[in-house]
Amino acid sequence: MDNVRKLRVAIVGAGASGIMAAKKLRDVGVTDVVLFEKADDLGGTWRDNTYPGLACDVPSHLYRYSFAPNPDWSQRYASGAEIQAYLKGVATRHGIDRLIQYSSEVIEAVYRDGQWRIRTTRGDQGAFDVAITATGVLHHPVYPDIEGLKEFQGPAFHTARWDHSVGLQGKRVGIIGTGSTAAQILPAIIHEVEKVSLFQRTAQWVMPQPNAPISEERKARYRADPKSMDQKYQELAQVFNGTFCAALAGENAEVYESMAKACRGNLDSVADPVLRARLTPDYKMGCKRLIISDRFYPAIQQPNAELVTTKISHVEAGGVRTTDERLHELDCIVLATGFDPHRLFRPMMVTGRNGKVLSEVWADGNLAYRAIAVPNFPNFFMLGGPHSPIGNFSFLMTVERQLAYVLQLVSLLQSGSAREISPGSAATEAYNHALREKVAGSIWASGCRSWYMDKNGNVASYPWSFEKFERDMQAPLLEDFELA
Ligand code: NAP
Repeated sequence: MDNVRKLRVAIVGAGASGIMAAKKLRDVGVTDVVLFEKADDLGGTWRDNTYPGLACDVPSHLYRYSFAPNPDWSQRYASGAEIQAYLKGVATRHGIDRLIQYSSEVIEAVYRDGQWRIRTTRGDQGAFDVAITATGVLHHPVYPDIEGLKEFQGPAFHTARWDHSVGLQGKRVGIIGTGSTAAQILPAIIHEVEKVSLFQRTAQWVMPQPNAPISEERKARYRADPKSMDQKYQELAQVFNGTFCAALAGENAEVYESMAKACRGNLDSVADPVLRARLTPDYKMGCKRLIISDRFYPAIQQPNAELVTTKISHVEAGGVRTTDERLHELDCIVLATGFDPHRLFRPMMVTGRNGKVLSEVWADGNLAYRAIAVPNFPNFFMLGGPHSPIGNFSFLMTVERQLAYVLQLVSLLQSGSAREISPGSAATEAYNHALREKVAGSIWASGCRSWYMDKNGNVASYPWSFEKFERDMQAPLLEDFELA
């Protein structure tokens, strides 16, 4: 192995995908790895989000690393705290935590003399042969542009910056937004607060799914017979990716209809026809990210819950004023207003070959070759890059496949077959042309507004099936790359 080139690799972000990247790089002999993490702890989204009711709505046995199956998941959908503990456990067991440089946000990556020069908030970190971004997708909170928010006299915070010093017991709480996050918070707090006013701008499709505990017997079976756990994973992958996500990608009309029927049936559980009508979406199921919950409708029907559908006019000291002049008096405001996924790793400034600046290349929208790489940015690879399968997919499954692909490119650098790898412009254009054509007819472009769309109306979803994604990620088509 003496002729293997020793690579120095910078990973940006110590969340779920960064931890995975470090572990798998070491598996293939790349040991000189630094993970730069802006915060003082690992875990990414599972570190940032601590709101009441937080759980992953992808089944636990699908939301795990293939190299670290977990027989101990306590529920079908694990809580945020359980996932964070899982990530920490994996990072410690595999010695990844020692590679992390905390409180060191990457500000700049510049490609110079065949290497990436990395600068973080702690200063110049030197040169790296490869840079891998692992910054997740949903981590830039969106603060609503609502007049007067600063005038509010009580606490007001974003769901991803939950203020645990604020006790909600007996309080009047306003939740602005009705996405997956609000749908988890409402049922979690409704029984302890005096009142919740839920400000809904757009009604949602809500798929009922009970979050059953996993019995001790089953956990013991998984421990004793890991193959049975793997079988569970395969079954879930088939149901989730092969049918559920395929239906959303327009590849299974029958399943799509049965999903819509399940959501309509769920909505029928709302007894009051007026409330039901106000909760009825006026766009196609799946256009916005589907909400998975069997607790949202029971919660919004509690006597101390109010669904507010009149437009918000402004916020004032005592609460939220709607355009009908009514003041909704509140003690606390929760901003469940989502994230900007299109910023990805920005404000990090990435400068590639010939001084090309990535944010300028992406001025009209984020484009990459198969979500992984960008022409003229050699040896720069993204996990969860533009048009990755996100939304209702298991992000860990997505990223693990992307990483396997990236490692095949990295192996060309290790073996000396190339010193520089970047996708060709023509291949990138052809890929994005096909993608744009497919996405234009997709469910996400069917007439709603969602976080899948950027400010220019580009839909950032992956428009094909997970099966195709897996096939495409099996091996890079080297003719699409420029190797130097
Ligand atoms: P979101 O789905 O983007 O929802 C944001 C909500 O805020 C929407 O209801 C939106 O209304 C509303 N909103 C935004 N600005 C507003 C304004 N100025 N005035 C009034 N309402 C406003 O955000 P999220 O609920 O945080 O979820 C984001 C994503 O995170 C999810 O789709 C999911 O992928 C992920 N997530 C996953 C889980 C999980 O269990 N795996 C849990 C939570 C979140 P409009 O609909 O009208 O725009």
